[in-house]
Amino acid sequence: MCGIVGYVGGQQATPLLLEGLARLEHRGYDSAGLALLGGTGIKVAKRAGRVRDLGDGLPKRFAGKVGIGHTRWATHGPANDVNAHPHTDARGRVAVVHNGIIDNAAALRHRLTEQGVELASDTDTEVLAHLVAGSDADTLEGKVREALAEIEGTYGLAVLHADFPDRLVVARNGSPLIVGVGEREMFVASDLAAIVRHTTTVAHLEDGEIVTLTASGFTTARDTTVVDIDPEAYDAGEHESFMHKEMLEQPAAAERVLRGRLDDRFGTAHLGGLNMDARETRAIRRVKILGCGSAYYVGQMGAALVEELARIPADAEAASEFRYRNPIIEPDTLYVAVSQSGETIDTLLAVQEVRRKGGRVIGLVNVVGSAIARECDGGIYLHAGPEVAVASTKALTNMFLGFALLALQLGRVRDLSIADGRRLIAGLNRLPEQIQQVLDQEDALAEVAGRLADADSLFFVGRVRGYPVAREGAQKFKEISYRHAEAYQTSELKHGPLALISSEVPTVALVPADELADRNVGALHEIAARRGPLVVVTHEDVDLGELDALPHFWQRIVVPRNERELDPILLTIPLQLLAYHAALRLGHDIDKPRNLAKSVTVE
Ligand code: GLU
Repeated sequence: MCGIVGYVGGQQATPLLLEGLARLEHRGYDSAGLALLGGTGIKVAKRAGRVRDLGDGLPKRFAGKVGIGHTRWATHGPANDVNAHPHTDARGRVAVVHNGIIDNAAALRHRLTEQGVELASDTDTEVLAHLVAGSDADTLEGKVREALAEIEGTYGLAVLHADFPDRLVVARNGSPLIVGVGEREMFVASDLAAIVRHTTTVAHLEDGEIVTLTASGFTTARDTTVVDIDPEAYDAGEHESFMHKEMLEQPAAAERVLRGRLDDRFGTAHLGGLNMDARETRAIRRVKILGCGSAYYVGQMGAALVEELARIPADAEAASEFRYRNPIIEPDTLYVAVSQSGETIDTLLAVQEVRRKGGRVIGLVNVVGSAIARECDGGIYLHAGPEVAVASTKALTNMFLGFALLALQLGRVRDLSIADGRRLIAGLNRLPEQIQQVLDQEDALAEVAGRLADADSLFFVGRVRGYPVAREGAQKFKEISYRHAEAYQTSELKHGPLALISSEVPTVALVPADELADRNVGALHEIAARRGPLVVVTHEDVDLGELDALPHFWQRIVVPRNERELDPILLTIPLQLLAYHAALRLGHDIDKPRNLAKSVTVE
């Protein structure tokens, strides 16, 4: 959430900054702003609302070749024009954009007020501008360093100063920042998406780094790397949204995460990045999975895979809660942190808590070189490609596959037979094609999604392997359709929520062809008897009895069967399409759902 982009070089900065901000929009924000350094000092334009409105409302002469831009996701003070970034000191000589939270802002605001400084905004960020302006250091970097010495909290930030018109100073602590190197020009951004059209030679800043950027270079001791990224990945192309594009990319993304990692000869997986030898792998007694939101739900699917294939006790927990209950960290537990961006602050802090207490953590992360990837002892990169839409689809699918690979490798140094290992490898190899078969049902799914969109409230139900699928399905539906959707174990319906079932409250039920299918169908009859509309996601050979004939039986969605352990991911794909088409029908902004952000980098 929230975004930074900055430029110093030979071109006019405004169009570059506006374009960069537009590419950060999907992360979620409530206001936007720019500051430029030109011949006459610093100029600022900022307002609540969209980047487009900011661009349309710019004064005629808004020129300068050094500049910073921001999309704000308010934490301190409402989303209004004054609180939008950049923030300046009283004389307008310093401008600052900031992602993150300054924990001691109240004390600093109080101190500045006592010193006679008038604060213009309600934000924590503004104190930075005043502190930089008040510093006696000779260089801008020195001033920023002095200001930051007073700050407790997290930040990614960029600073302009009218006395140093050829440079920007940027700094990171807990909020991502990437420097991009061009031809006699330099960029900075909180996300590669903002600058990838201009350069792919980048350096990820480390926590605690402060860096000066001028047109000719930047000061830091580290090497830059060229990232292997296709700039097209950041364009929705002919799709009406990134989410749609990313759902359809799933077969190709699934192939990528599996590539080179399956060994049919020994019926196992090879995950070089785990950094564990066979002895260490065998010594694992428990697996604890930590993630937030969809990454938590897919973590529950992953825990089931680990238990089934490796017979190691495994469970998933919301990373946002984990460290607050003083968790017991065990040396023979393998902790697994799951995050698309690798910057999810709650998950990162959970990783740090485990490591502080001597635990071993691996990461399941999509963004290479991200904070969580760097903090972990090892990991599995997801290779989903850039995911832009807030609602995760292809990254989530690849998380599931990452867990399948991990469970296979753990299983094969324990009880899992070579025959079972090969059975699963064959299943994994069939998945991309089968995911495509589900995606091919989009038209039929769109139709029933339209009916679901009309309900104010709905249930998603499943059992055992199907329950985390139901949770993920309800989560997606909530996130983008803004309808109340609740997940339940099918078996628990009669213990409470059945009271809510009526002709107004549809249920999406997961009924795979497993040992529980008959019981599941039984529970659906109880819903049907109360005139609850039903949408059933199931396999071809499941007998739904007379259910299909009922007037309030809305649709049977059939997904291909794989190995029973791998079925959850195929059951998940239609739920993505249901949520998507419901949101489309309701006319929502699918890639930027209200109140949500792509990577949650504040606690
Ligand atoms: N804490 C700052 C504010 O409320 C920055 C929020 C952000 O990261 O966008 O203005």
